Amino acid sequence: MRRAVVCSREDFFYDIHSLVKSFYPSDDVVIFSLDDEEKASEEYDAKLTVEIPPYTDRAEAKNQLKQDLYRRLSQTTGKELPWGTLSGIRPTKIPMKGLNDGLAPEQILRDMKDRYLVSDRKASLALRIANLEKSLVDKLTPGWDLYAGIPFCPTICSYCTFSSSPIGKWSKKVDQYLDDLEKELRAVAKWMKTQPNTIYIGGGTPTSLEPYQLERLLSVIDELFDSKHVLEFTVEAGRPDTVTPEKLRVLKSHPVTRISINPQTMNDRTLELIGRRHTSEETIAAFKMARDEGFDNINMDLIMGLPDEGKDEVRYTLDQVEKLDPDSLTVHSLAFKRASRLTTQWADYKMLSYENSDEVMDMASESALKMGMAPYYLYRQKNMRGNLENVGYARPGKEGLYNILIMEEIDSILACGAGASTKAVHPNGLIERVVNPKDIVTYHDRIDELCDKKVSGDLWNK
Ligand code: SF4
Repeated sequence: MRRAVVCSREDFFYDIHSLVKSFYPSDDVVIFSLDDEEKASEEYDAKLTVEIPPYTDRAEAKNQLKQDLYRRLSQTTGKELPWGTLSGIRPTKIPMKGLNDGLAPEQILRDMKDRYLVSDRKASLALRIANLEKSLVDKLTPGWDLYAGIPFCPTICSYCTFSSSPIGKWSKKVDQYLDDLEKELRAVAKWMKTQPNTIYIGGGTPTSLEPYQLERLLSVIDELFDSKHVLEFTVEAGRPDTVTPEKLRVLKSHPVTRISINPQTMNDRTLELIGRRHTSEETIAAFKMARDEGFDNINMDLIMGLPDEGKDEVRYTLDQVEKLDPDSLTVHSLAFKRASRLTTQWADYKMLSYENSDEVMDMASESALKMGMAPYYLYRQKNMRGNLENVGYARPGKEGLYNILIMEEIDSILACGAGASTKAVHPNGLIERVVNPKDIVTYHDRIDELCDKKVSGDLWNK
């Protein structure tokens, strides 16, 4: 259905759109100003009018507007949203701020429920996570973290919008890409006067690189940064079909402390449907290989709400993962991102079912608790199935610190590589971003300019 929302003023368009879309996830929602009301009435199947009264306090006005709109939509649809009016990706920032301001837990919970209409369960989850995060970040000195991106994967998953290219097709460009990445890393090392808190090599799939290429990247990082003494050094080995004993040995010969091997699901039919082209057997083999090589901090990512997966399929996946016994588990809710194949080629996927619910997320949570883990970070994305969340669980001491630091925007992130997003977090709370081009050809063409931008006073001297 095509749904028009007509607003009396051009304020808060984004917030209004997000909230209406959360109630009507399958509808095409378009916002109009009063001037275009006629068009909205003629061309759309449904029309909603939102009055925005004059205001002096913008934050208060926005909050009131969202509460009123939420109640209207909830009454019309009979739905409640687990996260209430919150549409941002970092709901734990609210309880974290409350804790830092010295508020009592009951007060924080009350605010989340009364002000943002968050459900009791989600408010308690957010507070629990904020408490754990605070206990971890209070121990460190805020600073910066290094990210290096490898934008290559064996194949591209149907739900992916990361900047990743199939490595088979781009193999001739990989060494040139590593030259550019090295240039950027050298520029960062020269500019920063301190050492990073953590290092994260993500992507894409860094283990898509050949062993000699991985060795080269890790050696450059060791040379430029004090990688032996960082609090955490993660390398994503996300696609099990890229993991080999040789590559794991390369990682082990450098101070890598944490890796991630991501099944997403243990059902082979689903893996095929989402275009991952590996089997659950390969996941099991890669995990065992990593344990044999001595990795004692292995994360696994799962996605709930994958095509044609119901409770039985999720149960099977969780049972298999429990047998492997990873150190942390990140549970995602499938998000329909605009640029993913799942959305752009919807005709090819629409005959499949997509379900996610609190019940399924609870199954994953129980499984994590059974493995001795606790929830330690949480974030949300737009257009998530069931309006739910992504939650990271970990055993005590195995939490992904980098994840917390970026999610709570405590540290600056110096991010190198195609599509990488650098974020300067200033002491006054101001946040500046520089995003590298996603496409590796443009990244190559603009590398010198990107290096200059990253280390410019414009970004850092605020
Ligand atoms: S493995 Fe990750 S980065 Fe690579 S295509 Fe799949 S979702 Fe994208």
